[in-house]
Amino acid sequence: MSDAPSDYDQLTAAARQLVAIEDLLGAPFMPARPDSLPPIEPQAGPVIGQALPGASMTREQKADALAEMDSREVRPCTKCALCKGRTHTVFGEGDPDADIVFIGEGPGADEDATGRPFVGRAGVLLTRMISAMGLSRQQVFIANIVKCRPPGNRSPAPDEVVACWDYLVRQLQIIAPKVIVTMGNPSTQTLLDTRVGITRMRGTFRELPEIGEGLAGLAVMPTFHPAYILRQYTPDNRSKVWSDLQQVMATVHLPVPNAK
Ligand code: URA
Repeated sequence: MSDAPSDYDQLTAAARQLVAIEDLLGAPFMPARPDSLPPIEPQAGPVIGQALPGASMTREQKADALAEMDSREVRPCTKCALCKGRTHTVFGEGDPDADIVFIGEGPGADEDATGRPFVGRAGVLLTRMISAMGLSRQQVFIANIVKCRPPGNRSPAPDEVVACWDYLVRQLQIIAPKVIVTMGNPSTQTLLDTRVGITRMRGTFRELPEIGEGLAGLAVMPTFHPAYILRQYTPDNRSKVWSDLQQVMATVHLPVPNAK
């Protein structure tokens, strides 16, 4: 038997994706012919991906390296005061060999309780965004700038970001993704070393600065944080996020359903 998906499976997946897109946009979406957006190549620097340790690792080696960092370093971590209030560390989850890594701010109450990223209300919307791309959470990697919950859902403080920074850099070096999607101000401003706000940053590919060996030039697409979309649930914001995600899809050569 062939492992290729049957016509029926492909149709079901396409229908599911369409429902997810309409769900995200909050409006009917009539797809035109597939692939009508030209792929947008990220403005990659010459070293993109090449020097990344993860570039020469198998998926299994990446999974082992991530699991080891999580169990030996992140779970017992006491590098900043956030460790005192946590129930669980939230390392991140998904495909260790993912093309796309989504990065949020830090765990909230639901994430702290479960040890998993983006499982609360914002997580439900992020899962829908990923479905609209025709993917599942298991096919991308989802992480945060900090691995422990900042109290009262405040943004992580600079010393907390610094304490956790090395984990995120090494996660990216191991996964060696093609695109990073930063969601909201804290992750965008931290990774891109800028004070420019998300409203101006989103929608355009940016290059990752030299934050660690092999990472300079990696494509970063800043977009709104799902929690912001939930607060400002306007058709305009939802279609902006969809447009950002479409650019990411084109870059990793996923079919991009376009509206007629
Ligand atoms: N918001 C984030 O930024 N990260 C999570 O994991 C959950 C909510």
